[in-house]
Amino acid sequence: MINEAEIRSALFIWLKQKSAVNGGVFTRDELLSGFKYQGRVITLVGPSGIWTPKGFNIPISISTTSSGGYDDDVGEDTIISYRYRGNDPNQHDNVGLREAFRARIPLVYFQSIKPGKYFASWPVYIVDDRPADLLVRAVPDPVYAMANTNLVVNENAAYDTSESGQNIRRYVTALTRQRLHQTAFREFVLDAYNRQCTMCKLRHPELLDAAHITPDSDPYGAPVIQNGLSLCKIHHAAYDQQIIGISPDYDVRVRTDILSEIDGPMLKHGLQELEGNKIVLPSRRADYPDQNRLALRFEKFLKAS
Ligand SMILES: [Zn+2]
Repeated sequence: MINEAEIRSALFIWLKQKSAVNGGVFTRDELLSGFKYQGRVITLVGPSGIWTPKGFNIPISISTTSSGGYDDDVGEDTIISYRYRGNDPNQHDNVGLREAFRARIPLVYFQSIKPGKYFASWPVYIVDDRPADLLVRAVPDPVYAMANTNLVVNENAAYDTSESGQNIRRYVTALTRQRLHQTAFREFVLDAYNRQCTMCKLRHPELLDAAHITPDSDPYGAPVIQNGLSLCKIHHAAYDQQIIGISPDYDVRVRTDILSEIDGPMLKHGLQELEGNKIVLPSRRADYPDQNRLALRFEKFLKAS
């Protein structure tokens, strides 16, 4: 008897550990080889995009393929529309998706980013089942959580074509993009920096962000560790506002006008005294912030100075 829930939990941990190294990008071969749970190999993808490993009742993953075959898509509203396997709503895998929907079982979504390479999102929840359209709709967990706030993601908001509906969807898009990246990205960036601010060494994870050196809206703004910095909220904002810069040689620089300002202890200790410090680098050389990206970003800071 397989304990699917335990295996799923173990899988999420495995994915997290692997993602710390690979930035969340997996090769198809890796996924076909799967992961080991108590001596048993659990494959993570298979011949069909909805993958139900042997002995499972509920699929473990859904994946997109670059060769096509499924009309799956992350739309502008970042809700995943995922087509059934074949045309029979009662086909085993499709029934499994329905059960995942009913029981709120989290799945993994492997999104093909180029042939043979996938970006993993998890947990992903099926939030809608449409047998008549032969598809399910799914959202990554944070978005699903937002639906419970009654803020944005509900069925109507996703399909509302009125102007206000579209505005809401744009809002959702911005937030979900950010969250999608950050949930996958934040953990491994913070781990790389031993969960402290690279500027002030603050160690409260709830006050730490994974900041992008090159913004994630930029084509080079990939959510990889080398494009990330572990920064506390204050220093993240200060870095984004060009109040503080980091040179390609990892020196902290404070903007000139800020240095000459006179104010309380936060300004003095929190900002001014950072001038000339080295940032705290990750323990692994491979995780160091990319010097080319730092250089580009530093130019912006110098212009603002
Ligand atoms: Zn800080």
